[in-house]
Amino acid sequence: MRILLVEDEPSAAKMLAKGLREQSYAVDVAEDGEAALYQISVYDYDLVILDVMLPRKDGFEVCQELRAAGSSIPVLMLTARDVVDDRIAGLDSGADDYLTKPFDFGELLARVRALLRRGEALRSEMLVVADLEIDTRSKRVRRAGHNIQLTVKEYGLLEYFARNVDRVLGRAEIAEHVWDENFDIFSNLIEVYVQRLRRKIDDGHELKLFQTRRGEGYVLTCENED
Ligand code: CA
Repeated sequence: MRILLVEDEPSAAKMLAKGLREQSYAVDVAEDGEAALYQISVYDYDLVILDVMLPRKDGFEVCQELRAAGSSIPVLMLTARDVVDDRIAGLDSGADDYLTKPFDFGELLARVRALLRRGEALRSEMLVVADLEIDTRSKRVRRAGHNIQLTVKEYGLLEYFARNVDRVLGRAEIAEHVWDENFDIFSNLIEVYVQRLRRKIDDGHELKLFQTRRGEGYVLTCENED
């Protein structure tokens, strides 16, 4: 899942981005409100973490413009002070949730997970596809009761597939949601990662959950191929 982090304070941005990447999210950083709106217009983010106090356009303005333009992207707003007015303004401007600085990183992760789950039928932190179980909290993956060790990137890729079960995902879409803006679309990295992941998930199992749709992409599904 790909996140846009909008934070003008370099050390805070760096620390948050690093922490989020360690949790398998693809993260881009925008340093002011106008840059944020531009990035959101170009890339298909799954979530925006938006600081309120920003140069050029503040977080409230950014959020209002997004909602006015019809965007329903989940927004987690970071308010600088524990001021009730800020929270109300944040929610009024169309933010889905807010967190007051300073906050616990674990709390931020919990809010992020909750917002990414929004709208999904399964309101659980577990994603289940046949006998494959993905715990989005601990990032643990099991198939038929056995633990599967994945790298951070492999996990990020698997979670994206599992959140889009039965849907064929093309490489452009995968790149957009699992990698950040530095991804080279002409590389074969996606193919390499998908092959590695499907070996770890499917080898030794009769039911192959990953399938290739020639010319279209890949799909994670428990339906048999026709
Ligand atoms: Ca700020």
